[in-house]
Amino acid sequence: MNRELTRKVNTLFGVGEDRAKKLGKLGIFTIFDLISYFPRDYEDRTRIKTISELVPDEMVCVEGIVSSVPKRKVIRKGLEISTVRVVDEGGGMEMVFFNQKYATAGLKLGERYVFYGKTVLNGHRMEMHSPEYERKSDNVKTGRIVPIYPLTAGITRNMMAAYIRGALGKTLDLLIDPIPEEYRYEYNLAHQVFSYRNIHYPENGTLLEAARNRMIFEELLVFAMGLGLLKKRRAPIEGIKMEKVSLSPFLDKLPFKLTGAQSRAIENGIEDMCKGIPMNRLVQGDVGSGKTMVAAALAFFAAQNKYQTALMAPTEILATQHFETLSPIFESLGLKCELLIGSTTAANKRKIKARLDSGEIDIAIGTHALISDDVTFSNLGLVITDEQHRFGVGQRATLMSKGKNPHLLVMSATPIPRTLALILYGDLDVSIIDELPPGRKEVKTVAINDEKRKTAYSFMAGEIQKGRQIYIVCPLVEENDELELKSAKQYAEKLGREVFPNVKVAFLHGKMKSREKEEIMSAFSANEIQILVSTTVIEVGVNVPNATVMAVENAERFGLSQLHQLRGRVGRGSEQSYCILFSNHTGEVARARMKALCATNDGFKISEEDLKLRGPGDFFGTKQHGVPNLRIADLAHDLVTLQKAQKVAFDILKKDPTLEMPEHTELADRVKLLFKEEEYGDIFN
Ligand code: ADP
Ligand code: MG
Repeated sequence: MNRELTRKVNTLFGVGEDRAKKLGKLGIFTIFDLISYFPRDYEDRTRIKTISELVPDEMVCVEGIVSSVPKRKVIRKGLEISTVRVVDEGGGMEMVFFNQKYATAGLKLGERYVFYGKTVLNGHRMEMHSPEYERKSDNVKTGRIVPIYPLTAGITRNMMAAYIRGALGKTLDLLIDPIPEEYRYEYNLAHQVFSYRNIHYPENGTLLEAARNRMIFEELLVFAMGLGLLKKRRAPIEGIKMEKVSLSPFLDKLPFKLTGAQSRAIENGIEDMCKGIPMNRLVQGDVGSGKTMVAAALAFFAAQNKYQTALMAPTEILATQHFETLSPIFESLGLKCELLIGSTTAANKRKIKARLDSGEIDIAIGTHALISDDVTFSNLGLVITDEQHRFGVGQRATLMSKGKNPHLLVMSATPIPRTLALILYGDLDVSIIDELPPGRKEVKTVAINDEKRKTAYSFMAGEIQKGRQIYIVCPLVEENDELELKSAKQYAEKLGREVFPNVKVAFLHGKMKSREKEEIMSAFSANEIQILVSTTVIEVGVNVPNATVMAVENAERFGLSQLHQLRGRVGRGSEQSYCILFSNHTGEVARARMKALCATNDGFKISEEDLKLRGPGDFFGTKQHGVPNLRIADLAHDLVTLQKAQKVAFDILKKDPTLEMPEHTELADRVKLLFKEEEYGDIFN
């Protein structure tokens, strides 16, 4: 990449230190960042009318001659208006500016300008309020499609446009196209210089689309390239080579037969661990598909090979639950299993740590507590993270560093459409559990408003009569909001007092002491509590098969995938289960979500719907999945392009595995830019 492009933005005319800092907040540090800061939208200002054609309340351009000097009037304190009269061949009108002292400074009597703004009828007189204007020959703000950029405090729209325009003017000719010509030709991609110009200042809709398509392709190519390199990078590391042993002793202890999909995932894992290179596998399966047992089987396998396993879950509730289900099985097989979480007493922690260090413990189940500095293992062979999307890349890495290239299994229910999972986790191998344990009935889902609340309550009472249990989830806008917490608590109390006086109702929230949470959860597991009112702390992983009703208050506050996760807390046994979504909201998106949820139980279908309903970006951010943020491509919508780009990436990597050929230098530079060294290390190594 040309050095001019990698210079800092403050070297640009008009951008000082202060504004450079503000641009930094938007991720803009270099000139190249600046010209690659693409508009989030466009405003069509191509329509030009004569004054006599104007109708009120339209956004439109008018071309005319200034026929009066600006008049300034103070209407009252804090409101000052300036007006200027403008005429064209067929009429005249006033341009009105509010509290903009210098707005008229650029206008000269008798000269011609193009104005863009909103028309307003004032009595019988047509006016335009706070228009933008320029000379026709400037052709930057009027008479064309103009870009709208995401902004930040201290950077106005005009500043941003001017910076980008300035930077483009200086550097367009210096750009080197990272997409080799043969592929540009094969996939009908516009040239880079053309695309940069037209994505910021499109001449028309068709050219804009050509520019966008090319930019999306380019970004996805760079992305696919990086994933390909990451995947290759893993190969040469030496890993623990385990020996195949029979799983029968373990399988015999289970109260059920594994599903085909579970067995396949376990086999995949065993194959990986016997290869002598570190396993790096994602097990993706819908809620309730039985991922825990896949983890347990592989932990057993590792233990038979005399290696320790660490299983990390994102919440104490979940870790505790895993421990309670798994430790009896392990102990009965003569293996030692311990729970290490934040609320483990100091004395116990000390003991457990010593026994982990000496190798006495085979399987450690826990939360982030497992990654604290003073936890050491004697021979950690397998790291498992449950509900992977809740962990950052860093946390996983810290746990890994406690062994010598241990095997890694990550589990996630966040349902990502299949193809996307395979592509997205280019640096992972993927096992998909696409089969639920037998006998599961679809959870029946209804969305209702307050009018039917009574009916819903009596339905719940009926379920309790049958011996079943119920979750009621109350969303808090902020888990820390005292007021909201209080009202959720009051709701739970009222429910217990007035609606269900004869059964035990308990309230659970995230800020409770761990001990308290555990007590409530285990009482709920034992059916000593029939109705559990809670915040979303029970969202992931919780497993109480006797619970058959999941009721969600203010369901519109949740995203589709989150609702699906919540619903996944029921339907875990053989009884028919139900999900009741309370919502009085009539907004379109909320309604679409409810409808999708009522229509299907299939997590993959739901996530596809979710991707369509959501805006781009937030789903696949670095935080969620450890992949870089994309500027323009949207993995959900641009799936087809992604597949094409991936094909090209493989093709190029086959010819030039480390992008050393001169025709790939620019591509290599772009890959380094997207996969920052601080986060991914040297990706060519
Ligand atoms: P998730 O994939 O959501 O983590 P879990 O591992 O919590 O699912 O399993 C959900 C429930 O299904 C648990 O009660 C578990 O005991 C049960 N289960 C798991 N595998 C099977 C199976 N093969 N047959 C019957 N029940 C199973
Ligand atoms: Mg789970």
